[in-house]
Amino acid sequence: MGSREKAGTSGFRWGERVTSRAVGFYEVMDARAAVAIIAGLLVASWAVGRAVGGAGAVAPHWFYIPIVLAAVRFGPLGAFVAAAASMLVAGPLLPAETSTMTAQPLSDWLTRGAFFILIGQVFALASRQPAGARAQARRVTRLDHDLRHAIAHGELEVHYQGVFDIGGRRRRVIGAEALLRWHHPTHGYIPPDQFIPLAEQTGLIDELGERVLAEVCRQVAEWREIVESADFVAAVNLSAHQLADPDLGVRVRRCIDGAGIDPSQLCFEITETAVMADITVSRERLQALRDTGVSLAIDDFGTGYSSLAYVDLLPVDIIKIDQSFIARITEESDAAALVANTILLAHTLGYKALAEGVETPEQLALLRSMCCDQAQGFHLHRPAPPAEITTALKRQRRQRRQPRPARTVTSRRTARTRQSSRTLASR
Ligand code: C2E
Ligand code: MG
Ligand code: MG
Repeated sequence: MGSREKAGTSGFRWGERVTSRAVGFYEVMDARAAVAIIAGLLVASWAVGRAVGGAGAVAPHWFYIPIVLAAVRFGPLGAFVAAAASMLVAGPLLPAETSTMTAQPLSDWLTRGAFFILIGQVFALASRQPAGARAQARRVTRLDHDLRHAIAHGELEVHYQGVFDIGGRRRRVIGAEALLRWHHPTHGYIPPDQFIPLAEQTGLIDELGERVLAEVCRQVAEWREIVESADFVAAVNLSAHQLADPDLGVRVRRCIDGAGIDPSQLCFEITETAVMADITVSRERLQALRDTGVSLAIDDFGTGYSSLAYVDLLPVDIIKIDQSFIARITEESDAAALVANTILLAHTLGYKALAEGVETPEQLALLRSMCCDQAQGFHLHRPAPPAEITTALKRQRRQRRQPRPARTVTSRRTARTRQSSRTLASR
């Protein structure tokens, strides 16, 4: 795409964004404030009409602005009141010629008034929505407005859930998944499942995703000081909207270079649904992303249109088995068989298998017996601010540096002490 074309498109997008934000803001603002704006525009229209020489010098089109605003926000009744008020202000109260103060003929302002009413009703009808849909649209617009405010004022935080290697004798934290947290000042905690889809709809996800990525890269650089190697990986969730961005690879590279981290320390998680939206484009984007040196994981595996035909086509490294299967593995043999076979499938294709949502020691033991490589879940670690991961990494470093004590028969007391000091690193 030529640069002029690009500039034109971005200018258009910018204009579109400003307009949609202004409309959104007007839709959710206090009703009294909206009435004040409409009344103010009416008076301003009258003043402009007078200043330019009266109704005869310029057609009073200005009055359509407050009428349309009233129609959009307050429906047919609001449009009628605004049209009637405009008819009066643009009629008997506006001279035909300001210099001579000649009054307008009655037929002129009555005809104009009829147009005001007609146009107002047409706009009111065109923007009419059922009461439920209007309320829902307002709720979405308000949430979008609040989300923008939250991003600008740093109300969003990135928490991390530890990812554990469960293949070895001793569990170790080998990575962490970045999960967004929003504490709304009045509505309290709003789960990402609610605001991420909204951000996807409005396109805000690009800005949100970029901020999360920048924060994760910064955090990884900090952890790198503790880990002293590049084998700690932070996972970042990517939405379908972000995956569709042709510049995704460039943006990622910029963030990685900016933070001075190793690309292998980042993993991007994409759901099957996001990938399947357009498998050809997804493959291209994923390949471009992987070419930067990061690793890729299929998130919530098993919940989308799982198909063997595409799994081996995608340039991925990890398959994350969805928590809905893990929740049933110790109770239902079908779920256990499905999980065991998914692990086998992952290994056959050269991928690692990660179990999501591990909540009990029994589930963990069963997954280990199935040769699952990695696990994540409340039993191992709940998502928390980054300080918890920092503490775990420091503990692991201390343990690594300590010379291993000569093997002795473990007394009951040491076994008990070890048990009580189970931590994020060793659980
Ligand atoms: P996900 O990527 O599959 O993340 C795992 C979700 O499972 C998280 O929910 C996590 O808190 C929860 N979880 C982890 N272990 C357990 C467990 O043992 N039991 C149960 N019941 N749940 C567990 P959360 O934080 O509410 O996130 C929900 C989804 O929101 C994520 O699913 C991800 O798709 C999306 N999300 C979160 N942060 C971001 C982000 O920064 N960008 C994008 N695009 N999506 C995000
Ligand atoms: Mg995820
Ligand atoms: Mg998941």
